[in-house]
Amino acid sequence: MPTTSASSAREILTGLHDVMASRLGAQAKLNRVVKIIAEAMASEVCSIYLLREGVLELFATIGLNQSAVHVTKLALGEGLVGTIARQVAVLNLAEAAGHPEFAYRPETGEELFHSFAGVPIVRRERAIGVLCVQHADPRAYDHLEIEALQTVAMVLSELIANAGLADKAASASAATRDQGSIRLGGLRLVTGMAKGIAVYHQPRILIEHTVAEDVEEERRRVYSAFRRMREQIDSMTSLAEFGTAGEHHDILATYKMFAYDEGWSRRINEAIDSGLTAEAAIERVRQRMQMRMREIDDPLLQDRMHDLDDLSNRLLRIVSGRLGTAAQMGLHADAILIARNLGPAELLEYDRRRLKGVILEEGSLTAHVTIVARAMGVPVLGRVRDVRQGIGEGDEVLLDVGEGAAFVRPTATIEDAFRAKLLVTQKRRAEFAAMRDMPPVTLDGTRITVNVNAGLRDDVEALEMMGADGIGLFRTEFQFLVSASLPRRETQQRLYKSVLDAAGDKPVVFRTVDVGGDKALPYIDTAEGETEDNPAMGWRALRLALDREGLMKAQARALLEAAAGRELRIMFPMVSEPWEFDAARAIVEQMRAWLAGRKKVLPTQIYYGAMLEVPALAETLDLLLPKLDFLSIGTNDLTQFLFAADRANPKLAERYDWLSPAILRFLRRVVREAQAADVPVGVCGEMGGRTLEAMALVGLGLTRFSITPVAVGPMKAMIRSLDREAIMPAMEAMLAAPPPDMRLALTAWAEAHGVSIG
Ligand code: PEP
Ligand code: MG
Repeated sequence: MPTTSASSAREILTGLHDVMASRLGAQAKLNRVVKIIAEAMASEVCSIYLLREGVLELFATIGLNQSAVHVTKLALGEGLVGTIARQVAVLNLAEAAGHPEFAYRPETGEELFHSFAGVPIVRRERAIGVLCVQHADPRAYDHLEIEALQTVAMVLSELIANAGLADKAASASAATRDQGSIRLGGLRLVTGMAKGIAVYHQPRILIEHTVAEDVEEERRRVYSAFRRMREQIDSMTSLAEFGTAGEHHDILATYKMFAYDEGWSRRINEAIDSGLTAEAAIERVRQRMQMRMREIDDPLLQDRMHDLDDLSNRLLRIVSGRLGTAAQMGLHADAILIARNLGPAELLEYDRRRLKGVILEEGSLTAHVTIVARAMGVPVLGRVRDVRQGIGEGDEVLLDVGEGAAFVRPTATIEDAFRAKLLVTQKRRAEFAAMRDMPPVTLDGTRITVNVNAGLRDDVEALEMMGADGIGLFRTEFQFLVSASLPRRETQQRLYKSVLDAAGDKPVVFRTVDVGGDKALPYIDTAEGETEDNPAMGWRALRLALDREGLMKAQARALLEAAAGRELRIMFPMVSEPWEFDAARAIVEQMRAWLAGRKKVLPTQIYYGAMLEVPALAETLDLLLPKLDFLSIGTNDLTQFLFAADRANPKLAERYDWLSPAILRFLRRVVREAQAADVPVGVCGEMGGRTLEAMALVGLGLTRFSITPVAVGPMKAMIRSLDREAIMPAMEAMLAAPPPDMRLALTAWAEAHGVSIG
């Protein structure tokens, strides 16, 4: 036997290379292949089984009876060969007949042989065949021999796929394919239903060529790919300080560890030495590590495997030059996008007509990617475990976020049920749409203002469609997020003007840019060359804008010019102390004076508002309120700061409830103070768009909401079924002596009082 897997594999690969390049037919090629392997491995038997029409057929052998070829067939899971294919795992046995799954096939004559080693032939993570060797002596093959067999199996997979000999491997893994239809549970991030085809944000690379022509060239390719990948990871690490990469720090730390791991690059180089192309070597090492990890039942290790898998895919994409995300590759017309996590800008790259739904392995309710998806009207299921094991590229997926579930490869029964439910949902939506012109008035006659949150030009349509009162929060930074470079003042002005035109008589509140935090921009150095440990609490939003006066002035002028001859409403984000509001207002006023000096048409009236999202501001409200035309509570940031819980951290996504006494009491205090000062106060965070939460907020005395457009219908239904005179004392009582579970208590109250909470 050869002494190393590399030399053994190289010997076989050299032989295989000639066979593959020959003009022989596929059957003749495989006949030659088994002979080459048997000789190189000094085995008496070498056989190849291929998956054809769902069963494993003995396709070529040396050492077994030739009459058994195309006759011996095993189901998936049947016998040793079937077990290897089903589990996509290696079997290495000194005594084959001693294995519980051993199935004796007399026609093969295999009773003469004792030892058995078999490896799956894998394509798209699924076994399309099995390669095995057998020996008369009862001995186990050593791990180097097994490695050599696995390397050869990789090359065979190319030959077999090219010749179309085996069933097409369209899906993720044999394990999941065998499970057929599965249900994956997750966290409801953006409710909705969608049917589509699974598309990975970072597509998996299918390896086309496995045998190297020139080992040195392959070595060079992998070397430069490693260098590029390390550069990418390093720059992602600095970007991630602002969350743009959509990745979390601990993941990036692991990425970095693997990316610089000498062991990993060495193993890839060894695989290249054995005669594989750079792509095949990366894949080979990935498969090997995956198999090792699978044997160790440790969730932490599994997570690391996940990271390594990501990184192998990244390296593969670099080496094969296929770098783009699915957004840049011609998206399927009904795509259900699958990603570990996404940044808001990455999501905005997708064509919203084609993107039907998103499944994330991470994600949280108030992360900006979720808010953007909500604005785009794309349902999102988050925190879904085992996505990669469960869903293959191209699989059919039914997304029912209301149920907190994704159904993969659904059966006809599941599809029927889904379709029926979709009809009901559409009917409900139609009912809500029919409420378009009905005012949101409570049973006791209080008119509640229901505005919508927007940020994209198309959102304005929602205003008309949903029958909302106006736009209570226009997130101007979305335009910055979708641009490759800083939007020019004229471009900003055009957008603002078109929004005002579309809104007509309805008021629009423009929030000045809120960048930084999880909304970093590649073209603004929001860190000024430094990294922030805590970007959400860092130099973001108004803090940044006040220091970068040019940015703020350009936006102020764009807003003033866009609103020439009409009312303008401007709101500043992340005001932490009253002077920041004064400074921001002063910049706008300065621009107004400047324009007036040039005899430009000015807005007829400017209303200035502040967002309350930093708790400290509540302590100085008495100083700020007299200067304000309105106050808007941003509960997304406010709760993250009140609870000291990062809004984008998936581990905390479900930990704290908006319906907690702490939040509700805090809000009550702010609402009372603003009302006492006669300053209109509303809520514009995601909390306000949830019917039960909104009911509680009405109970605190709030009458102004700015919510996500799809929530307008359910919100109106809730308001129209709510008696404000009854909920207010009920909330008082609950806040004085909070029940153990506020959500439960409020749900019970809503049910008892016939409030429609959906
Ligand atoms: C908020 O923080 O609640 C808010 C409305 O602003 P954003 O979500 O854009 O930070
Ligand atoms: Mg905010």
